[in-house]
Amino acid sequence: MTVDHFMSVVFEETRSALLVGCVFVYKNAIIAKADNQVNVTKNATRHAEFVCIDQTCNAIKDNKKI
Ligand SMILES: [Zn+2]
Repeated sequence: MTVDHFMSVVFEETRSALLVGCVFVYKNAIIAKADNQVNVTKNATRHAEFVCIDQTCNAIKDNKKI
């Protein structure tokens, strides 16, 4: 995978009006991806990167191989 591929996934995730998206890459694979969800959830902590952190933490808690 290339950085261009990972960035294309970021743009796919960027659906919100704020046009912010995020992907986490580990060992050349996407392990989390999200867009900004602050307006949708009315929760100021729902930045794309925090949503990705939550996805990663949940995967670790569920003992998913990442
Ligand atoms: Zn942010």
